[in-house]
Amino acid sequence: MPQLSPDLQQQLSTRVEQCYQLVERKLGRKFPRPQVLTNQRGRIAGCALLQKNTLRFHPLIYQQNQAHFLEHVVAHEIAHLVVWQCYGKTPPHGKHWQWVMNDIFNLPALRTHQYNTDNIGIRTVRYRCLCAEIPLSMNRHNKVIKGAVYCCKRCKSPLKEITEM
Ligand SMILES: [Zn+2]
Ligand SMILES: [Zn+2]
Repeated sequence: MPQLSPDLQQQLSTRVEQCYQLVERKLGRKFPRPQVLTNQRGRIAGCALLQKNTLRFHPLIYQQNQAHFLEHVVAHEIAHLVVWQCYGKTPPHGKHWQWVMNDIFNLPALRTHQYNTDNIGIRTVRYRCLCAEIPLSMNRHNKVIKGAVYCCKRCKSPLKEITEM
């Protein structure tokens, strides 16, 4: 896993803090700062580990899309943590989350981000059936895009790409 430069680490921390200050000003309460990891893999730009109050970002997707990533992905994942801490379990991109994105961060509430990940050395794409997560090769993934359907040998259900951030 490539290391981020100290400069990019610093910009990431600064953006996280900026988002929390916006949230705290709007909601009038304090939030514990999350642990921020940069070891996300696959084609996922980032994720929020709710119970652990942890954010995990993909170092290469960040490096290749710096300004957009800082603005959108960081806010997106922090919104998940904030909603979890305020309301507990809710639909992942439901109305609370959308409200944080729109009214606190002043950003569109997009579920996923379409970054070009052709050049980050990913050879598999995450899919899931009803019983498990199953990686598909890029070759098979490209066939799915053109209409092919693969099924799990165990549960027989069709594999669907995991697009959740
Ligand atoms: Zn299955
Ligand atoms: Zn999300």
